[in-house]
Amino acid sequence: MHRFFVKPEQLLESIVTISGEDFKHITKVLRLGKGDLIEVCDGQGTDYLVSLNTPGDQTISGSITRQYRSQGETPEMRITLFQGLPKGTKMEVIIQKAVELGVYQIVPFSSLRAVSQIKDKQDKKIERWQRIAYEAAKQSKRGIIPKILLPQTLKEVLNQVDHYDLMILAYEDENRLTLKAALEAFQKISKTDKPLSIAVIVGPEGGFDLQEAAACQAARVISVTLGRRILRTETAGMVVLSQLNYWMEGGSS
Ligand code: SAM
Repeated sequence: MHRFFVKPEQLLESIVTISGEDFKHITKVLRLGKGDLIEVCDGQGTDYLVSLNTPGDQTISGSITRQYRSQGETPEMRITLFQGLPKGTKMEVIIQKAVELGVYQIVPFSSLRAVSQIKDKQDKKIERWQRIAYEAAKQSKRGIIPKILLPQTLKEVLNQVDHYDLMILAYEDENRLTLKAALEAFQKISKTDKPLSIAVIVGPEGGFDLQEAAACQAARVISVTLGRRILRTETAGMVVLSQLNYWMEGGSS
């Protein structure tokens, strides 16, 4: 079933009104009309089954027949991926896959070994990345549209440690603590029923400089190994997100 994100103000009582790009897509591309069903999501974790009315010139409305929690969210956990700026268009793949794997927000960061710094045309890039997140959220039936935040420095990232219940550094030179062990240790001390906010830091292709790794450890970020192989930067974040999903779905018991 075709799925569209709508703003809360487009939902009035039991009617949803759609205009703009989505109106054109529904009426001109999908050629849907009276009686056809679509699914809309308010971007805050609630989905609605909608039976369309006859389209007008620039808007189409529909009656909400059912409301339910979006299937694509894990409300118990919010994962922020701090991603070292990768080369070329790799960030686009990272965003797409991370949204499919349930990421809550993505923050690009620059570091000593990040070869690409998005100084020029930064707004354009962020706009394109946000569009990729939007499309991936629609395709994967997410209940929210994960945000792509403005790039930060690693120092700025580390200043936010206390904003998270747990901040993890995927560190290629860590050879002792696994992500599993770190989560089990965390589970023992975390006595909270609010959504867990977990931050994951993944380095760029060049990895982390020794002094950066030391700064992360000094900031009480937990360094974990993802195994004996060196993963590409675009792989590492996905491994962490997958393991966090597994852990949250009871894989740790
Ligand atoms: N310094 C690495 C090397 O020796 O080739 C390059 C960095 S790796 C391509 C990019 C990032 O992925 C790392 O900074 C780290 O965040 C993550 N990563 C890759 N393999 C990892 C592993 N086995 N354990 C933990 N993190 C890993």
